[in-house]
Amino acid sequence: MLAQALHSVTQRLADAARAAGRPAPRLLAVSKTQPAAAVAELAAAGQRAFGENYVQEALAKQAELRALPLEWHLIGHLQSNKAREAAAAFDWVQTVDRAKLVDALARHRPAERPALNVLIQVNIDGEASKHGCAPRDVPALAAAVAAAPRLRLRGLMAIPAPSPDAAARRHAFARMRGLFEALAAAHPGIDTLSMGMSDDIELAVAEGATVVRVGTALFGARAKPGAG
Ligand SMILES: *Cc1c(COP(=O)(O)O)cnc(C)c1O
Repeated sequence: MLAQALHSVTQRLADAARAAGRPAPRLLAVSKTQPAAAVAELAAAGQRAFGENYVQEALAKQAELRALPLEWHLIGHLQSNKAREAAAAFDWVQTVDRAKLVDALARHRPAERPALNVLIQVNIDGEASKHGCAPRDVPALAAAVAAAPRLRLRGLMAIPAPSPDAAARRHAFARMRGLFEALAAAHPGIDTLSMGMSDDIELAVAEGATVVRVGTALFGARAKPGAG
C-alpha cells in the first residue's frame, strides 16, 4: 500500500519536473507520528530519506530501524538543549535558524561521523508565529555554518505561510529561489533548496525545489492530537 503511494508521489515529482523543465527533486518522506513499521515498509519499497520533527520520536524509531541504511533529516524546530542529541542522531538538520545552534551542533557532532549537513531555515513570509531566520540574516548565518567545524552548509529550507492563494505560495517559493541563488554566489558548494509539501509539490518544483518534504501524500492524513 505504501509502495503504491510512493510510486504515485514519485510520478508526481517526475511530472512536475518535466512541466517545469527542471531535474526531479529528491523526495524526503516525512514520517512524524508514523510508526517504525511504516518507515520500514517505505524503505523496503526503495525510499531512503526520512524527515522527523521531534528528536525524541526520531531516536525511538532509529533504535527500532538500526539495521536499515536510512538517511535521517530533522525538519522540526530544534531547541538548544536538544542540540547534542540531534547532532549525533541525524544526517541532516534542516532547521538551523540562529548562531547559538550552529555552535552547539558543531561542538557536539561526533568526530567519527561525517560532517552534519545543514540547511538554514528561512521565515520567508515573516510570520510572527514561525521559526526560521529573517531573509536578511541568511548571509551571516550561512557564513557561520560554513566556518564551523563538523558542519557542511548545503542550502536553505522554508515553510511558506499556508494560503488558499496559490499565487501567494508560489511567490514565496520564488523569493526562496532568489535567496538561494544569491547565497550560491558566495557558497558555490550549496546544492539544496528544501521546499514544498504534499499540497504544493508542483509549485515548489516550478520554482526550483531540489528536495520536497512529503508526509500526507505518502502515509495518509495524520491523526490530530486530541482527536478520537
Ligand atoms: C509535517 C511537515 C511536512 C509534511 O507535510 P504534508 O503536508 O503532510 O506533506 C513537511 N515539512 C515540515 C517541516 C513538516 O513539519
